[in-house]
Amino acid sequence: MIVAPAGADDPIGIYIHVPFCAHICPYCDFTTYAGKESLIPAYVDALITEIERRAGEARGRSAATIYLGGGTPSLLAPEQIARILATIQSRLTVLPDAEVTMEANPNGLNRDHLEGYLSAGVNRLSIGAQTLDRRGLRTLGRQHESTDVLAAVAMAREVGFERINLDFIFGWPGQTRESWQRDLQQIVALGDAGPDHLSLYSLIIEPGTPYADAQARGILHMPDDDFTADLYEDAIRILADVGWTHYEIANWSRSAEGYSRHNAIYWQHGDYLGLGAGAFGTMDGARVMNQLLPERYISEINADLLPQSNTEVLDEETARGETMMLGLRLLVDGIDAEAFRRRHGVALDACFGEQIMRMTGLGMMESTPTGVRLTTRGMMLANSVVTEFL
Ligand code: SF4
Repeated sequence: MIVAPAGADDPIGIYIHVPFCAHICPYCDFTTYAGKESLIPAYVDALITEIERRAGEARGRSAATIYLGGGTPSLLAPEQIARILATIQSRLTVLPDAEVTMEANPNGLNRDHLEGYLSAGVNRLSIGAQTLDRRGLRTLGRQHESTDVLAAVAMAREVGFERINLDFIFGWPGQTRESWQRDLQQIVALGDAGPDHLSLYSLIIEPGTPYADAQARGILHMPDDDFTADLYEDAIRILADVGWTHYEIANWSRSAEGYSRHNAIYWQHGDYLGLGAGAFGTMDGARVMNQLLPERYISEINADLLPQSNTEVLDEETARGETMMLGLRLLVDGIDAEAFRRRHGVALDACFGEQIMRMTGLGMMESTPTGVRLTTRGMMLANSVVTEFL
């Protein structure tokens, strides 16, 4: 059974995957490859063909966001990013105030590139800082220094980027609370010259990564969950003290205007078109995944085929559970009851009233003027709360 589609007029997001990195970090399980940069020109050509071929899937719905993720999109030259964005603009209806985010690694960014990305139409940068601690950067196998992060932020501001996110990882082996607090304090001390958005992720060991292998061999020792929870609470406190809003489980913004609009489409279980090797997309209740390998992706596009490896149609029950799982991540807005009804054709209370009442009674959830959300207690136990709805 197909889920009731999101509103026919709801804007969509567009996700573009760039599966190339100069080096693979030992904890990373994203679809990305090192040493394949010579494929980039053919890959960009293939992406452009895929955009042209699949634009009709949007059925005329406007795009509110474009997100270039990876991998390392900043390995692409500004002219290549400009070609991709110009093709999207010419084939789809892009809202005039669309958020256009590009992920970047701090090393290798220079002023010319940043100016080029900005004039290509990128209006938000997401920079992978991970930590400012030298030992942490080496533990995480990163190729940059903390000075590269600070220089990249300063340069991005100087060339005119008004929206900058930094990604950080906490809970890496050997990290101390002092080091983590120092990282955050250094960032918030930048004030207006610093980022306006932070994404803070706890390190998870993913199967198949060098980190998983090292852990299995007993040479990598992860901090325990209580310590990682302490680091999370440190971040909540430090950022609240300077007025940042903790609007999603792993995301903070200096203002409501700074919330990530692209990720909000994911959290609101909205539709987005995923383009490029290894990209996922979800449109009208179907989840589509593209071929992982860039070589295969390019050859399928060139052979006039759709480069899709898997399509899954979510049944209605799973889709409703996913709407809850994703929406409960939004700590300020939570789940909008009207949006739920519009998406699933049934009232939120009729579907999950019993679970909501139980979680509210336990102090894990609370009502908002438009729906429900987690309480602070619920946020700390979010995984358990979410299982109630799955
Ligand atoms: S730079 Fe990012 S995408 Fe590339 S390997 Fe490292 S963590 Fe993964």
